[in-house]
Amino acid sequence: SSPPVNLTPPPSLPHKPRWARMDSGPASSPQQHHHKLRKDKLIVIMGATGAGKSRLSIDLATHFPCCFEIINSDKMQVYKGLDITTNKIPVPDRLGVPHHLLGELDPLNGELSPAEFRQLAGRAVSSITCRGKVPMLVGGSNSLIHALLVDRFEPGVNNVLENGAELVSSELRYDCCFLWVDVSLVVLADYLSKRVDEMLESGMFEELAEFCKTEEEDDSAVRTGLRKAIGVPEFSQFFKKYPPGRSQCQSAGPHDPLRRGAAYNDAVRAIKDNTRQLAKKQIGKIFRLKGAGGWELRRLDATEAFRVVVTSDNDDVGRRWSEIWEEQVVEQSVKIVKRFLEQ
Ligand code: ATP
Repeated sequence: SSPPVNLTPPPSLPHKPRWARMDSGPASSPQQHHHKLRKDKLIVIMGATGAGKSRLSIDLATHFPCCFEIINSDKMQVYKGLDITTNKIPVPDRLGVPHHLLGELDPLNGELSPAEFRQLAGRAVSSITCRGKVPMLVGGSNSLIHALLVDRFEPGVNNVLENGAELVSSELRYDCCFLWVDVSLVVLADYLSKRVDEMLESGMFEELAEFCKTEEEDDSAVRTGLRKAIGVPEFSQFFKKYPPGRSQCQSAGPHDPLRRGAAYNDAVRAIKDNTRQLAKKQIGKIFRLKGAGGWELRRLDATEAFRVVVTSDNDDVGRRWSEIWEEQVVEQSVKIVKRFLEQ
């Protein structure tokens, strides 16, 4: 899912950093009372799908041990299920960093609205802050990020980021440090295509086959929340024609292997196209938040690191990716975050 590198944590810091201790006194302590007059601090990692947001969140969490807890802001990853298809960071890669709203909701209960996300994620922010830690919001759904962060939220207004600049709010209810992982769209498009192939190799097709089979067999098991996840609409057409589990007929006709192969390739092509479109749309929304909303996004250019992944095919890719990523993305982010936490 994420670029082909090992998640080796850096050596731990010798002492608990000052910012991690800042709010750890009892609820009624004078420091805490004083702190309540200020807005709570929050790190936000933004970027298009595939740009390395989850990876950066873990890199930062290991640089500042026990400082952060992560809140997911990807609207498909909030649900249980389709872990490969929606690209959830696998448990071992989380390195013990606590994650909230990641695979927690039942997709049978319908789609999570921005208003509900504001409530759930807002609660997570409060509980993390009460534990003396700093919440880190990580995920590509900009409408959810906007819903959580704005001071005044208007539940009736939908598609804020698509319907015009005047709806984007610049008044925020938290003290935010925005990190925007950016990858040039040409390079990212090539990477996303590779990533889809890797996801299929890791079992995406089988996961979707199981998902679509359950939907088909049981009307009461329709998992509305996940139905829009890229992969579901594209493959559900395929599974209608070629139901999972049924043995393939060798003779010519609608089930001949050649036709089936062509239909499979069409579905994969559609997934790649739609993923690229999603990335493009997400980048547009980030520009709107920065431009119309005046959000102070700190851009981290990960293009060079990703170029290595899409242009070379040797065993050294992981090491080279890691070196460039560390130098051009992680080191910059650590500096920005350190300054922000010390303010
Ligand atoms: P909006 O709510 O205006 O569509 P957004 O920025 O909140 O925008 P996105 O995260 O861009 O939402 O998601 C839009 C669509 O992209 C989703 O409905 C889904 O089809 C697809 N999508 C988003 N994230 C994933 C994911 N992790 N896996 C699969 N599909 C996804």
